[in-house]
Amino acid sequence: FAALRAAFAADLDAVAIEAATPQGAWLHYTWRDLDCASARMANLLDSLQLPAGSRIAVQVEKSVEALILYLATLRAGHVYLPLNTAYKSAEIEYFIGNGEPAVVVCTPGNFGWVSRIAFAAGTSHVFTLGDDRSGSLLERAVHFGDTHQPAARAAGDVAAILYTSGTTGRSKGAMLTHGNLLSNALMLQDYWGWRTPEEGGDVLIHALPIFHVHGLFVAIHGALINGSKMIWLPRFEPRAVVQALPRATVFMGVPTLYVRLLAEAGLTREAVRHMRLFISGSAPLLIETFRLWQERTGHTILERYGMSETIMLTSNPYRADGRFEGRNERRGGTVGFPLPGVGLRVVDEQGAPLPSGETGHIQVCGAGVFKGYWRMPEKTAEEFTADGWFRTGDVGLQDAQGYVAIVGRSKDLIISGGYNVYPAEVEAVLNELPGVAESAVVGVPHPDFGEVGVAVVVPRPGTQPQGEALLDALKARLAGYKVPKRCTVAPELPRNAMGKVQKNLLREQYKGLFT
Ligand code: ATP
Ligand code: MG
Repeated sequence: FAALRAAFAADLDAVAIEAATPQGAWLHYTWRDLDCASARMANLLDSLQLPAGSRIAVQVEKSVEALILYLATLRAGHVYLPLNTAYKSAEIEYFIGNGEPAVVVCTPGNFGWVSRIAFAAGTSHVFTLGDDRSGSLLERAVHFGDTHQPAARAAGDVAAILYTSGTTGRSKGAMLTHGNLLSNALMLQDYWGWRTPEEGGDVLIHALPIFHVHGLFVAIHGALINGSKMIWLPRFEPRAVVQALPRATVFMGVPTLYVRLLAEAGLTREAVRHMRLFISGSAPLLIETFRLWQERTGHTILERYGMSETIMLTSNPYRADGRFEGRNERRGGTVGFPLPGVGLRVVDEQGAPLPSGETGHIQVCGAGVFKGYWRMPEKTAEEFTADGWFRTGDVGLQDAQGYVAIVGRSKDLIISGGYNVYPAEVEAVLNELPGVAESAVVGVPHPDFGEVGVAVVVPRPGTQPQGEALLDALKARLAGYKVPKRCTVAPELPRNAMGKVQKNLLREQYKGLFT
């Protein structure tokens, strides 16, 4: 918090956030507003006299006040534990039971059931916070002073617990330290060329949820540590983003946001004239989206890769300043180079490093790598190698120039008749076929082959691709063992809040197809 505070102290009366309210109005927050409001909330937290390391669990709709609550938690030296707004009671019961927070903040409408769960789990304080500045948290905080001395915390102390997206199974709480967060933020500020006020400054459009690394750390820290203004949208709404583009310079999105923006007629070269940088991450960006974006806007999306456990790991280059010895290109279908300070290696099943160009398991180390999974010491031990590298669970390769490409997850790998099939490779070929908008390939049990691939295809509007015909087309393009045994057409793929395809749901749906 002290680092963020130092960055925005330059002009406390400047606008820090222009926020569109869900009710359609614009609110302006100055840096002083953020400072004073987070001080009041931090003083309120101090008054509760919580033990060191207390978790503050937060499940509220996106609002600037929710961001201020995050800042207040850091300021008071507690551990921020954000929860996906989509979670229902069974899920909240798990997270609150697992996290054992001292304080829970929920929306006014959920107070009844959330407080029952929280009190049963031993939480002593439950506050409410609405996206319209309603609720008991602000009502209480207003009685406290608007100055506050930030609690002293060491780099190794836990600042936040972020639950992973649960794409491959039950979410795990990744313990991130103040050192993890600060080192990643400072490194990205430099790497992505955030501009000083003398260079014209930057304005970020913030349209992501704030309960994951992408929206909370990459986006918010990115702007705050640079003292840059944010245009704050309560949810992603393509038209609102297009309208904000002429006033902004940086946008961050998950791939589906780019797809939806491309469907907006207002997305023109004129609209993006002042934009400096479009960043994509959290899930693979289709090469087609990458190309369409280039054609339509003249901008090359910068794709990067990271995870809850490590914050940002790799990025395509920002500058063409020769710092990469000629490797200046943002290359579609790759996630770029390991970021400064990140160690990355690709290893085989036995853990032996593979030469460049060969596909294997990605392991990483560096200042952003988390302290471990909250209350899962065995899981933590399992995911680290003897020499201290973290097993990402992602499968990929690094080419001779150093570009990293993700081809999928270890858990999604299909082993069919003894051969490894990487779903991403099959999906890439499927996506090129006429009538295919996007696809997902998952492995399901099969009596002869052990496992076989099943493809789920989403048709392009106005087309009716046939599963059998698509499989025939695949047979002409891929080795037989890679071709899925079944192909079904569906209106959409199941996705979670970060736009990730939930392959576990597809596997579950199709697991009985051959057995
Ligand atoms: P869980 O660990 O609970 O199964 P999750 O891995 O989806 O869920 P996150 O930590 O939010 O949870 O996401 C990190 C993962 O997202 C990475 O391990 C990687 O698989 C994927 N990812 C992130 N950025 C990219 C990218 N640019 N391209 C491809 N995959 C990406
Ligand atoms: Mg994961």
